[in-house]
Amino acid sequence: MSNRDNFSKGVKRILASRAGYKCSVPDCDQLTIGPASEGEGVVLSGEAAHITAAAIEGPRYDETMVPEERKSASNGIWMCKDHARIVDRDEVHYTVDLLREWKENHEKKIKYEQQGIKIGKGFLTKIKISNMARIKDAEIIELGKNTLLVGDMGTGKSIICELVAGLEKNQLLWRWREKWNVGNTYAEIELFNGETTSFEINVYEKQIRYLVNSIEYPLMVSPYNVVYLNEIFKFNSEISKTFIEQYAEHFNITPNDLLNIINNKSNLGIKLITDLFYKDERLLVIEDLSQNSPLPYLALSSSEKQRVDIEIGSKISHVYSNSKPTIFIIEHDSFSSMDKHNRENLLNIINNSKLPFQILLTAYNYNEDTELNNFSIYEHKEIKPDFVQIIKKDS
Ligand SMILES: [Zn+2]
Repeated sequence: MSNRDNFSKGVKRILASRAGYKCSVPDCDQLTIGPASEGEGVVLSGEAAHITAAAIEGPRYDETMVPEERKSASNGIWMCKDHARIVDRDEVHYTVDLLREWKENHEKKIKYEQQGIKIGKGFLTKIKISNMARIKDAEIIELGKNTLLVGDMGTGKSIICELVAGLEKNQLLWRWREKWNVGNTYAEIELFNGETTSFEINVYEKQIRYLVNSIEYPLMVSPYNVVYLNEIFKFNSEISKTFIEQYAEHFNITPNDLLNIINNKSNLGIKLITDLFYKDERLLVIEDLSQNSPLPYLALSSSEKQRVDIEIGSKISHVYSNSKPTIFIIEHDSFSSMDKHNRENLLNIINNSKLPFQILLTAYNYNEDTELNNFSIYEHKEIKPDFVQIIKKDS
């Protein structure tokens, strides 16, 4: 036994804890700790597996390692008993690189879970943009569960929203072919669902190219859903479309799907307003409990309408999140009529809710005293003419 570089109890505990006591093999996620059937005991059913073997005849043995490295936490991966056995039987399939990748992804996933973010079907983690409008450098935004972009008009907040939305709504990107024909314009969006996939949008010589993990695709099918509110809804009585047809277009959804979502009484949405329903060809709204009778949407003030729009957008996002990762983008222009109190209230509600989708918000400013611990906040700053820098703020 003495020539085996076994893990100490301390190292095993570190590996198990960093893995959240769950198996690190993708899609296994087996919990490896729990109560004993009787008494007050604890049953531990996981194992700290060696990435490179503890002894010379073991799998993936690396003779260049010194014993200290071999028995350190960096050489271990936490697994359920079944997977620990399988992985040690087949070193051709389960390589050092593969095990390291599993460990890294699993720990990343646990870190999100600890922040209250369920990875589920996936999650947009990062966006990197270069040479777009006034954003010249390769700026990186790490998207959180909720992300707030703060900055003056024209500092590139909308560009980021359009990029995120553009994988789904290609027409948002097409107009860039003319606009930014200034060399190699490029954006990369990362999605994490246990492993990282990168989606690249490249605008060069009036062509848009899409790459997935660096492989070019002729056409992009969005790996996530987007609900994009970028402006105030305006009903146009001059055209022959009904209110609900125009309103559905605002959300890029069919009128039928929108009505189903509006009339759905389950617990969807942010809860900015008390109730909504569609009756006699009118969208009716009960704003708060003190209100006796519902008001038609078209009779509301701009500020109230915007609250309803955000509520409906959040309901749609909630439904969409059942099929694919979903991000709800709310640009400043779509809540610009809200007073300060209502805007801070919106941020607070988002900050404290456990919605199953991500939110990306833009604003000209916000009250820095508001505690937004569940937000990633970025400030867009013009540092010289035609040059914008994006700075992460500690919330
Ligand atoms: Zn397992």
